[in-house]
Amino acid sequence: MTRKIVLLPGDGIGPEIIAEAVKVLECVDKKFGLKLKFEEELIGGAAIDEHGLPLANSTLEKCRAAEAVLMGSVGGPKWDTMDASIRPEKGLLKIRYELGLFANLRPAILYPQLADASSLKRELVAGLDILIVRELTGGIYFGEPRGIRRLDNGERQGYNTYVYAEHEVERIGRNAFEMAMKRNKKVCSVDKANVLEATVLWREVMQGLAPEYPEVELSHMYVDNAAMQLVREPKQFDVIVTGNMFGDILSDTAAMLTGSIGMLPSASLNSDGFGLYEPVHGSAPDIAGQGIANPLATILSAAMMLRYSLAEAEAADAIEAAVGKVLDQGLRSADIWSEGCDKVSTQALGDAVVAALL
Ligand code: NAD
Repeated sequence: MTRKIVLLPGDGIGPEIIAEAVKVLECVDKKFGLKLKFEEELIGGAAIDEHGLPLANSTLEKCRAAEAVLMGSVGGPKWDTMDASIRPEKGLLKIRYELGLFANLRPAILYPQLADASSLKRELVAGLDILIVRELTGGIYFGEPRGIRRLDNGERQGYNTYVYAEHEVERIGRNAFEMAMKRNKKVCSVDKANVLEATVLWREVMQGLAPEYPEVELSHMYVDNAAMQLVREPKQFDVIVTGNMFGDILSDTAAMLTGSIGMLPSASLNSDGFGLYEPVHGSAPDIAGQGIANPLATILSAAMMLRYSLAEAEAADAIEAAVGKVLDQGLRSADIWSEGCDKVSTQALGDAVVAALL
């Protein structure tokens, strides 16, 4: 039986980095007998150009029928002026929503070889290993009502709704506790319970779950403090769980601690373990087509896919070890390059990971 993976390269550097991840997956497929079968589809601007929509229903159906989806990134200046309802990012929001991908796992791990690429001092980040669990299908990014309206005095007013139902908090909370059980058994729930009622409820639900996980230490932090603590003493955290908007912002901060957004993978899972895997970064239009993008975040996303959706932990471990080996060899893309290392292309970095796997 083959195991179907849908590839969605998307826009900008997406096709370049997905090509490298596929090379690596083909290599572990042979080595571990995984029987992977790839199907490539369009998303984002590329899909708008072809179908007039950022995500065709036929693509969505193919994703539903697959074991997992590996995505590059969407968006770019070509589509920035389009109507908001059909912008490339809508394709991404649609696939997350339609497939029920409510749990976004974003590990921020600092490879020791890259400690000097971090914007923080080496001693603050060396050995950093945080997991940010971000709620992905609710909160203010989806809440209704929303829009821009005209007030009685003629002035325009923009408005959004920050909303979370108990079941939404409970399922992401469980996910965080379970991840913590496999790690250092600490969960920090981030909210703004001093100001926002929606997050008062968030905190109450998290507290209600805690007795089910007596081995896990649960703490709470306001989001402004969490942002500060992430750059003050990031190693105090193990698992951070938070809502959609706070998670969006905090995970990019955590990304910078690791040296480059080009190193960070992510997984978005539904309740059955089905997942969409993608690098944390965007389509980087400023470097697209130049062969200089870092493919490692996408290669590490492919490793997460093997681990979480295909239960192929050995193959996932092998990819992660191969990435470490390549960094040990001093090979770097431009974004993580430092004095004394070899600056290599996207393709050369992908080839080096394959070579390290053989
Ligand atoms: P970005 O992440 O694309 O780029 C930010 C900076 O990081 C740029 O300087 C870029 O060159 C660099 N960078 C990103 N990935 C890199 C990599 N793999 N290797 C080396 N350098 C890398 O964010 P942005 O510039 O704010 O957004 C560009 C486009 O991407 C926009 O259209 C945005 O909407 C879209 N976007 C998409 C996603 C997604 O698909 N999940 C996420 C964020 C942004």
